[in-house]
Order: sequence, then C-alpha cells, then structure tokens
Amino acid sequence: MTNPILADWQTPFDIAPFDRIADSDFAPALEAALAEHRAEIAAIADSPEAPTFANVVEALEAAGGALDRVLGVFFTVAGADSNPAREDLQRAFSPQLAAHFSEISANKALFARVAAVWEAREDLELTDEQQRVLMLTHRGFVRSGAALSGEAEARMKDIKARLAVLGTEFTQNLLADERDWFMDLSEEDLEGLPDFVTAAARAAGQEKQAAGPVMTLSRSLIVPFLQFSPRRDLRERAYRAWVARGANGGKTDNRAIASEILALREERAALLGYDSFATYKLETEMARSPDRVRDLLMQVWAPARARAEEDAEVLTAMMQKDGINGPLEPWDWHYYAARRRKAEHDLDEAALKPYLQLDRMIEASFACANRLFGLEFRPLDIALYHPDCRAWEVTRDGRHVAVFIGDYFARGSKRSGAWCSAMRAQARFPRTQAPVVINVCNFAKGDPALLSYDDARTLFHEFGHALHQMLSDVTYESVSGTSVARDFVELPSQLYEHWLEVPEVLAEFATHAETGEPMPTEMLEKVLGAANFDQGFQTVEYVASALVDLAFHDGAAPPDPMAKQAEVLAELGMPHAIGMRHATPHFAHVFAGDGYSSGYYSYMWSEVMDADAFAAFEEAGGAFDPERAEALERHILSTGGSREAEDLYLAFRGRLPGVEALLKGRGLIAA
Ligand SMILES: [Zn+2]
Repeated sequence: MTNPILADWQTPFDIAPFDRIADSDFAPALEAALAEHRAEIAAIADSPEAPTFANVVEALEAAGGALDRVLGVFFTVAGADSNPAREDLQRAFSPQLAAHFSEISANKALFARVAAVWEAREDLELTDEQQRVLMLTHRGFVRSGAALSGEAEARMKDIKARLAVLGTEFTQNLLADERDWFMDLSEEDLEGLPDFVTAAARAAGQEKQAAGPVMTLSRSLIVPFLQFSPRRDLRERAYRAWVARGANGGKTDNRAIASEILALREERAALLGYDSFATYKLETEMARSPDRVRDLLMQVWAPARARAEEDAEVLTAMMQKDGINGPLEPWDWHYYAARRRKAEHDLDEAALKPYLQLDRMIEASFACANRLFGLEFRPLDIALYHPDCRAWEVTRDGRHVAVFIGDYFARGSKRSGAWCSAMRAQARFPRTQAPVVINVCNFAKGDPALLSYDDARTLFHEFGHALHQMLSDVTYESVSGTSVARDFVELPSQLYEHWLEVPEVLAEFATHAETGEPMPTEMLEKVLGAANFDQGFQTVEYVASALVDLAFHDGAAPPDPMAKQAEVLAELGMPHAIGMRHATPHFAHVFAGDGYSSGYYSYMWSEVMDADAFAAFEEAGGAFDPERAEALERHILSTGGSREAEDLYLAFRGRLPGVEALLKGRGLIAA
C-alpha cells in the first residue's frame, strides 16, 4: 500500500489528507523522502554534463519536493497537535535532518558545480531573481564551510560540534538554575498580591512539595510578584535570584561557557575569512554591518534613557512617600511602575474583553486585507488535523490566491506561543503552486471566544506573516514569502498590527458580545495609552542587551564576557535601577544557539521599519491609502527574498527608515 503522505493527495487545493494519515506513516515517509532527495542531489553533483544554471541551481530548487511535503505535514501536527508518538518522532527526526543537510553542504562535487556556475554568472543572461537565487545558493555553501579543505575544514567541523555541545549545556544549566531555586512564603508574605499570583504561588508550593506557597523563577510567577508584592525585602531576594541565573558558581555556571562560545565563534568567522563574527553574521541581514546596527541602537538609546531617568524620578518620589529613603533599586521599579500604571491608566481588562470577540477580530483582519489588497475569504469545509481548525479559500477578482487555515485555541497538545507557517510555499518553478498558510495561536476557548488586547494584536501579527506568504509572487520557492533576512521578516507582521489600532477598525469590529455596542472611545484611548506605558524602561533594558550582544561579537572575543558587559554598561551610563533584559549568564538568545547571536537587535530594527512604514500610509492620507497599499504589496509582500531587503524598503518608501516614527510610537519623543 502506498504511504498516504507520499501518494497523490487528490484533495481540494491539494491539502494534505490528514484524515488518511496515521502517525506510523511519518517515519517511512521521511525515510523515502530523504532517499529520494539524496538521489536527486547525487544526480546533480555527479552529472557528466557541463554545469549550467538549469542543471545545478534550478535542479537544486526542484529537488526535495517529497521532503517538503513530509516535513510540511509533520511539523504542522508536531507543533500544533502533538502526542507522545509525535514527540518521539521529532526527537528522532531532528538529528537525521541535521545530518542530511550537512551532508549536502559538505558535498565537494556539488559545491564545485555551484561554484562553476557562480564564476560564469556574468555570461549567463540570468533574470534578477535567478541571479539572486544563484548568489544565495553559492553564499550558503561558502558560509557553511564548503570552500574549506584540509586542516581548516577539519577544524571547522570540530568547532561546529563543540558549539552545539556548549549551546545545549548553556540551556540545561539555565533550566537547572530556574528549576532549583525557590523561596518559601508565609501567609503574611502573600498580602497585597492579586489572587492569580497567590494561586500560582500555592500551586508552585505543591509542585515543589514545600510546606506552603513558594516563589519560583518562572517568568509568569516572578514578574507579577515583583510588580505586586509590597514587601521590599522579598522583592530584593527574588530579584537577586532572578538575575543570578547561570552565575551561581558550581556545575551550572554559564560564564566560562559564554567565554568559550565567543572564542570559537571568532575562530569560525576567521576561518571563513571574516574579520569578526558580527561581520559574518550580519552579511545576510538587512543591517549588513555592526556599525549600522550600533548606529540605530544608539539613536534609540539616548531618548529612551532620558525618558527612563524622568520616570525613575517619579517612581523615587512615590517610594519616598512610602517612607523609604535612598535610591530606587531594580527590585523597586516594577512595583512602583505597576502602581503608577494603575493610577494613570486604570484599564479594566474584564470590561474590555467582551468587545474583543475572536470571530469579529478575524473578520477585522480579513476586512483590512480586503480594503488594502482586494482579498476575499470564503469558508472551506475540509478535513484538517484537529476539529478546532478552520479554513478559508482566499481569492482576488475570482481567482484562487491561497488557502488560509486558522488554528486559534490553546490545548495541551499545542506548544505555547503563536506562529505562522506555510504548509506549502508559493512558487512557479518547477510547477506553479499556490500557498497553503496556517496561523496557530493559543487563545482561550469560550462561547463566544473573547480575546485580550494582546491576543488581538497577536492575531493581526500572525495574519501579517500570512499575507507575506499568501501574496508572494516569485518564481523560486527558496526566495518565496517569508524567506527573507531575519531583521526584515517581522516587518509585514508588526506592520499589520497597526491596522488593529485604526479607530474605524475597532469602531466597526470591536463590538460588545452581548449588546453589540461598539467600544466606547474612552476605553479605546485607555487601551492605546496603556500600550505605551513604561517604554523608557522597556527600551533601555532591551537596547542595553542588544548593545552587549553586539560588543561581544564585533572585534576580538572578550576573554572575560562579564567584564566586557560591565564595561559596555558603564560606557552607556545604564540607569541604576534598570537591569539588562537578559544578562550574559542567562542570555539564551545569544548563547543557547546561533539564531540571535549579534542579532538580538533585530526586533528593534523591525520595529523601526514597521513604525516608519505605517507612517508612510498616514502621510499619504490614511491607513487605507490605495497607492501605499499597492506599493506595499508590489515591493514588499509579493517579493519575498528575491531582492535585497534594503532595496525593497527603498522601493516602497523612497528612502531608508528613520527612528522618528518609532520614538513617537513608543512615546519617547513628543508626537
Ligand atoms: Zn512574528
């Protein structure tokens, strides 16, 4: 019998036949798909014909179709609807896949053919997109070390293996420190805490088999404790434990690991011919160079720090009124900021929720896409992997554009967070394929399901990613949709969040679940005002972390990262009462793996762009300005990674992004 994942699906829109797939089908399907891909790669590498764009680069693009199918289906269910069998499969698949792809990038014969096409590029009369795909293919091989030989090649292999071990150790040490520490709380210590914090502290106490409630280092517990506990001594103890994660001495200390990681990264970059790890890392990003990153961060730093210092004075005055003298400390900030927020923006979440019905917010996200891009959404009745999933056919002028799937509700089988992925990405080569795009969220179920304001923003955010996939209009899948630089990929999603804040959108779609009344203007203003609260603090703690990350990787690796961190913070004039959002011994973004190393800045980079891009609409006459919408689709949403991110932004905006709109949006300068 044919494996249903590998068979011709014969379903509407060629969506995976989830109702016919059993968990036992995944492993044999992956086995077969890997073998097929291996054979395809061997045929390209060992071809007797002279290398050409078609028989090397296009052949690589066309290869792996079966693998795409298997992984598209598997990772969808493994993330959104897992079970023990799927978890086992995932553990087995990840080293298999890592080995498969590193075998391809280490294939010398294959790289020689890619390099030959690259050398001949001037004479090949390629389209712009083809030149780009060739450049990306060649660069990918070179960056993974394919051009190295002899001792350098062997050393690179050792470095990669050692870095993988160190990254895992870093994560495990951090988890151990977070798991082991707790602080007993008496009934008296719970006074002043909201019910949800005391309930969580009691539950944590039971889990730790303690005599009573406890405080742990779980973010969802310690952050509200720092915000609400009137006990300054307990806040100090909890805060000190929180910032000591990974730096407690002994077996779980991460400081020596951080130092070794930085040295190995520097060596790795040098083997590949880069003058620093940051230069190597930023080569593929829109930012391109460490100087440009630092420049942007420093433009944000100065006004953020000024705002934080002003806020610190207000909070210090509040503290003194409580009879506490001396400076405001880091364990005081959250507490007094929470009290100030309540006084200034008293926003009743419970009263807000009935205005944010999930179904109405989905309608709102569709309605904005209709006004901006002419997209229409028709519900589809098809079998998916879970009864909570919903699907729509997306059309424009009667023509099929994509299938959009929404899987909105939290459940035990779903990992936390929210994400967008393409079960099938848009492409025209080797055949035309329309995208199948899914948004997965973790909203509470209800009748009707109601969202918090943050939830509603998440819905719009993920739908922005979905639009990037659905409106993609390129030839090659490797540059389709969200296959763009890391510091560019959040532009469409963060930009789309702005439409939720357009007053006419909320006025139409934020209607009360029972009365049908639109949200009162006063409530709307409070929602938007509260979103900007304490931005001096938030920006300072984030930018300080991003600048330390950059300093670690730009230039020679510091032998003592803690000393380097202290030096950077002193140079910046870090406010006394604010700590880094992530300090070195627990900076998992930077040390648990390579993903955000010298890349932690990218959240801010994207935010600068989304604020600046939305300002383009406002300057042009409003959030739904048709010319701006057309330009956004033509230059950014349809182009994927087929051109340099900077060129795309320039084409859309006519200039590079400036920080002014972000500073105004965060309330760091006057609007
Ligand atoms: Zn995102």
